[in-house]
Amino acid sequence: MNFRDLIKQYEALKPEMDKAMMEVAANGNYIMGPQVLELERQLAEYTGVKHVLTCANGTDALTLAMKAWGISSGDAVFVPDFTFFASAEIVSLEGATPIFVDVDEQTFNMSAESLERAIASVIEEGKLKPRLVVAVDLFGLPADYRALRDIADRHNLLILEDGAQGFGGSINGKKACSFGDIATTSFFPAKPLGCYGDGGAVFTNNDHWADLINSYRFHGKGDSKYENVRIGLNSRLDTMQAAILQVKLKAFNDEIVSVNHAANEYSRLLSSRVKNPVIPEGFASSWAQYTIQLENKGQRDRLQQALKASGIPSMVYYPKPMHRQKAFDMLTQPQCAGYISNRLCDTVLSLPIHPYITIDEIASVCSSLISFLEQ
Ligand SMILES: *Cc1c(COP(=O)(O)O)cnc(C)c1O
Repeated sequence: MNFRDLIKQYEALKPEMDKAMMEVAANGNYIMGPQVLELERQLAEYTGVKHVLTCANGTDALTLAMKAWGISSGDAVFVPDFTFFASAEIVSLEGATPIFVDVDEQTFNMSAESLERAIASVIEEGKLKPRLVVAVDLFGLPADYRALRDIADRHNLLILEDGAQGFGGSINGKKACSFGDIATTSFFPAKPLGCYGDGGAVFTNNDHWADLINSYRFHGKGDSKYENVRIGLNSRLDTMQAAILQVKLKAFNDEIVSVNHAANEYSRLLSSRVKNPVIPEGFASSWAQYTIQLENKGQRDRLQQALKASGIPSMVYYPKPMHRQKAFDMLTQPQCAGYISNRLCDTVLSLPIHPYITIDEIASVCSSLISFLEQ
């Protein structure tokens, strides 16, 4: 069994995929070919966001947003303590200071109450200027943007939506990657919408920010390619990846339906056995992960071993909260010691899930899991 079966997806899409890839090879427009612009248009239509700018990966997408907003030394950026490293890394890379915020134990997403407290303590200390909230759509579920927006508005903060795992999710029908002042996603192969390598995109309704991001992704270009008005990056999506993504985007809505069936089946079979992921009313997940919570680290680790012995892969996302990563050693943030994120890192386990997983495979994961719990 595969944790995320990308080959099964390729086989399902093979005729169209092979044609799309061979067309790119034959046409020779390997950089910024017509498929890139067409994909950007399709992503804008899908999310309902005015400007979509593709780039080299999801981390660069976040960096491009930081550069467009001029986030730098002296700025406080509020980041969930429970996320992939890149969500916080990009803050430090620009010289700003990530302030780690606790997450909700039901949804794994940023806790509004913890954000309020973190902002209050930064203001009280008076050393950093609160600028920005990085809200992560963890495991495919959009963050609680109504609560976060309310807080951000009161403190005059921007919201950057890290939708690397969130593409395809929604709140009351409004699509993920449309909630942040700027939003980003990743097309890393294992993400909900993945390509065959690295890729990413930035989403915004703001014309000025879109212009800046377009410049930053091409070495800070001005009106023409060889006029450079700012220091930027070389961060483009390959034409080949854009062609691959166009084929995948056509299949995407059906895949989201399938992966939701898979998640419902897990929830049904595991109900009352473990703590299942919670999707609040009105929210929809794209199920980048199906993450359960066990009682403690010992039980979680033994379960992972038992599953492995039955040929079932599982993953710990994430084993360490941001504030305990060595790279952030110099940021002493004592408030994090009591965070829920510490416990989550000990108790979470992500089970195999993807649009092509079968009901039989899910049943076999659940029966191994239940027999472990019963022994
Ligand atoms: C994967 C991921 C990223 C980074 O995306 P890359 O394309 O790998 O650079 C950023 N944030 C989160 C939450 C992610 O899961």
